[in-house]
Amino acid sequence: MSGLKRLPLLFKQPVRRASFMDKMSKDVRSKNPLKWTDYGDGLNASRPPKHADIVVIGGGVMGSSVAYFLRRQAQAGVSVCVVERDMSYTRASSALAVGGIRQQFSVPENIYMSLYSAHFLRNIKQYLCVDDRDPPDIQFNHQGYLTLASPDNAHILEENFKLQTELGAKLELLSSTGLKERFPWINNEGVEVGAYGLENEGWFDPYLLTRSFQQKAESLGAQYCRGEVIGFECNQVDKGMGVPGYYQGQGKRIKSVKVRMPNSPEVIDVNCAMAVVCAGSWSGEITSMLGIGQGSAEDLLDVPLPVEPRKRYVYVTHCPDGPGLDFPMIINLDGVYARREGLGGNYVMGSCPFPDQTEPDCDNLNVDYEFFEENIWPSLANRVPAFENLKLKSAWAGFYDYNTIDQNAIIGHHPAYPNLLLATGFSGHGIQQSPAVGQAISDLIFEGKFVEIDLARMGFERFISKRLVKEANIY
Ligand SMILES: Cc1cc2nc3c(=O)[nH]c(=O)nc-3n(C[C@H](O)[C@H](O)[C@H](O)COP(=O)(O)OP(=O)(O)OC[C@H]3O[C@@H](n4cnc5c(N)ncnc54)[C@H](O)[C@@H]3O)c2cc1C
Repeated sequence: MSGLKRLPLLFKQPVRRASFMDKMSKDVRSKNPLKWTDYGDGLNASRPPKHADIVVIGGGVMGSSVAYFLRRQAQAGVSVCVVERDMSYTRASSALAVGGIRQQFSVPENIYMSLYSAHFLRNIKQYLCVDDRDPPDIQFNHQGYLTLASPDNAHILEENFKLQTELGAKLELLSSTGLKERFPWINNEGVEVGAYGLENEGWFDPYLLTRSFQQKAESLGAQYCRGEVIGFECNQVDKGMGVPGYYQGQGKRIKSVKVRMPNSPEVIDVNCAMAVVCAGSWSGEITSMLGIGQGSAEDLLDVPLPVEPRKRYVYVTHCPDGPGLDFPMIINLDGVYARREGLGGNYVMGSCPFPDQTEPDCDNLNVDYEFFEENIWPSLANRVPAFENLKLKSAWAGFYDYNTIDQNAIIGHHPAYPNLLLATGFSGHGIQQSPAVGQAISDLIFEGKFVEIDLARMGFERFISKRLVKEANIY
């Protein structure tokens, strides 16, 4: 692209993520990130117990939110065990995310979940404060998303805007000239309309949110255990004992979760009444251990969990002459995004692959720097001319827990296993949905139904009935 020069990379490791990325030895980094080798020293993690009423598989933001809400809502005596194989979260999406929260979705459930989560995050000190510690500070930066649309797509943005505001989102619709008046640094060429969030949008540190959930859950009695889930033992369920409304026939019930201890062949059977899969990109591996996707339509095991890792790059740039404090989370016409990072002229940028591009390999966490130079930078320098002069400082890659069918969360019971719950497939919006999903799973377990937000449409059953819930706004 004219005007853009290839600039030397100043350093390649992420600045903000250095604390936990540094824990990875070079040896570990070169290994297949999808093949687990234990290298977490563990925080407060203990040995798995012989019995836990509810076993949560995966201790990222989702597993930790679920554990927190379960313990908060639990009647006395309900024990919760979170099994996590890597307590340093080196490859967990929760530690590698951008941490954005927005109301600008196309599916009502996603809008409601974000509104719920925004309320929770605004009051996080009230919910997640642990008595003898400093109140949690997730560095929530309240600033709107600015989603842009071309003349061809303006009607879609306007329809979404109508839905979002009807459901309680606070947004402003800006014409092309209105945009220029509101954000003088923008090049509004080719933009017909923009939607700008006035409340309940912004970004925060996803790792700090994960740790805050974890610490609070532990303080309420959840037990974090270090080990890898490698299988299950199941019982046959009698006729009529399936999940009400889903399946009343012959099926199976999880009796225990098999946990392999770190750096050891020892396997501990954790007997449980219920298991919740919160294993992010690896959730499909867990459900295949239960034969999900390997059976017949008759036993409801023919459809696999459609969740797989999709690598996404995040680039940190420096631009002293950039727009500064007033800069929102901007989503350009092609889906390329950028937001401010701190107050020192740094900006975080990224994008999904463009429609004509192939998905990157997911057998490593290497960064593609050409993707920045050929796609991200040209797009943003066109939209924000000051970005012509930015310098790329660092970058990292992480995995979206990508739902390959309709890019939306999969929440609730599995129809063939009455005591198996799923909370996965968030496809790039799981951090912001974690408070709402934790509450929803807890309601399902303790109340037998969704109470705060009706997420019935988000269940696994939709892949069997083909009633898909497609989210249009995935970046
Ligand atoms: C680059 C990037 C940017 C993102 N930006 C945003 C954003 O701006 N806003 C937003 O809302 N979301 C964003 N996301 C998405 C968000 O990070 C995820 O949806 C969310 O973190 C998923 O949380 P999780 O706990 O389900 O998964 P994870 O954080 O991946 O946690 C899963 C855990 O399960 C453990 N595990 C897996 N298998 C086993 C096993 N067999 N035994 C024991 N433990 C196991 C893993 O070690 C891991 O710690 C982004 C993601 C990426 C990669």
